[in-house]
Amino acid sequence: MQSLLGKPVVDALTAELEVLLADFVRASGRRPRLAVILVGDDPASHLYVTNKRKSADRLGIDHELHLFAAKATPVEVRTKVDELNQRLDVDGILIQRPLPAGFNLQEVSCWIEPSKDVDGFHPELVGKLALGIPALTPCTPTGIMALLEHYKIPVAGKLCCVVGRSPIVGKPLAAMLLNANATVVQCHRGTAQLAEITSRADVLFVAAGVARLVGREHVRPGAVVIDVGIHKLVDGSLTGDVRADELRDHAAALTPVPGGVGPLTIFMLMSNVVQAAHARLDTTRRSSVRKA
Ligand code: ADP
Repeated sequence: MQSLLGKPVVDALTAELEVLLADFVRASGRRPRLAVILVGDDPASHLYVTNKRKSADRLGIDHELHLFAAKATPVEVRTKVDELNQRLDVDGILIQRPLPAGFNLQEVSCWIEPSKDVDGFHPELVGKLALGIPALTPCTPTGIMALLEHYKIPVAGKLCCVVGRSPIVGKPLAAMLLNANATVVQCHRGTAQLAEITSRADVLFVAAGVARLVGREHVRPGAVVIDVGIHKLVDGSLTGDVRADELRDHAAALTPVPGGVGPLTIFMLMSNVVQAAHARLDTTRRSSVRKA
């Protein structure tokens, strides 16, 4: 079984991103800038944000962090987002999830101006993705599509099964696969006979957020399996949504956890920041042409 590592994909794509980034710096006279909003003191969220900031530093993307106490109100956070939406030097904005209970996620996903929404969660972006109109897209599924392309795993004409329908992974991933001419079956919490369905797939994507949900009985011999889950077990070790040990002599390829999909997610966030910066540059150029 081939292990589909994320790092070689990131290394290959970094070179391209650096060219695009240098291009932006040359044209604008500044570096792209990401603003991150973090509410509360969930240690995992703080770690995610630190990793994002480190990745931005490595690439040469400016960033700023806006910290709010767990008791901050949606109005306070919304006011900050409005300010960041207006700022000309901010290209990308993200609000780290999870948010405290008082925040309505559907409302929050409308706060960031779509052209700066580097998580790709705004309903306008979701609509564009569904229609196949180019726009910013969610980082994890975008990373998965890049991984498939890198390892030359075709999806056009293949039966692709997605387990999970979250707005962050499952739904956008199914839309991307459909846009790439796959035949897509989507499973979720309400799916009866999960194994019967998943075991027909040529490529199986598991984003259910349930440790070791999928094993040998769910996978067709020779299938490719993409594991999007990451969980810490009581002994401190990490595992995905897939029982990797059961697939060794069974699947053709599997993304390891950690080291598979994970590294691509953060890379695609950086890529979205650079893309958002470029798109704004083009808009500024167009409006100055119009004025002249
Ligand atoms: P993620 O962030 O990985 O997408 P979420 O917890 O937001 O995870 O969403 C989990 C998704 O997985 C939901 O769409 C849910 O319906 C699906 N799911 C959860 N448990 C199962 C299960 N046992 N079988 C199939 N789908 C599941």
